[in-house]
Amino acid sequence: KKPVIAIDGYSSTGKSSISKVIADKLGIIHMDTGALYRGVTWFALQHCLDAYGEIDLSQLFSSLHQIDLEFKNNEGTLILFLNHTDISKEIRTQQVSDNVSLVAKQKEVREFLLHSQRSLAEKGGVIMDGRDIGTVVLPNADYKFFLTASIDERTNRRFLELQGMGMEADKEQVKQNLMERDKIDSEREIAPLKQADDAIVIDNSDLTKKETIDLILSYIEK
Ligand code: C5P
Repeated sequence: KKPVIAIDGYSSTGKSSISKVIADKLGIIHMDTGALYRGVTWFALQHCLDAYGEIDLSQLFSSLHQIDLEFKNNEGTLILFLNHTDISKEIRTQQVSDNVSLVAKQKEVREFLLHSQRSLAEKGGVIMDGRDIGTVVLPNADYKFFLTASIDERTNRRFLELQGMGMEADKEQVKQNLMERDKIDSEREIAPLKQADDAIVIDNSDLTKKETIDLILSYIEK
């Protein structure tokens, strides 16, 4: 039977890109759960703003049923569609990054996204990355990893990633956003960001992406 793998950790520790490579190697499905929270946030920014231009949470809660999020595989890259429109670039904008942790701490939103995450893993053969995969979404995962790295290293990685996507980025703003999200994600009441008791913790501050992947694979393949 193919493994069910949970990868949690701080923002910009490389969870998603690492998970994608591991999924390809093992022939299993990869789900970037952060993209789902970003997708809901993008929807809210389009359709659920109050008079001050802030997200109106009660409007969002009553609109959740209108949200259809779907991943499609495009030559190995997962593309997120919201109601059949490709939003893979929109979900990486600073505006989404600045609002996603507020949206993600809401019970209504987490419950809405829980079902699709769990049903994917029922068939086995999946690697899911996020903040609460090993603790809440897939507590019975075969393998659990928790990634961490220094804030400066993570800032650099996110900055380069945004540049690579052709998006404008300010390093200080990127750093502030990472710290702000880490704080909200760790301190929230429901499904906070924390390592599962049985997770293998990897600090990859001084590891390349390939070294991190090889380290994770060494636990799985033995
Ligand atoms: O992984 P990524 O940085 O794209 O996640 C964006 C945000 O989505 C996180 O900062 C967090 O607020 C939320 N998230 C979450 N639970 C997950 C995945 C992401 O709360 N499993």
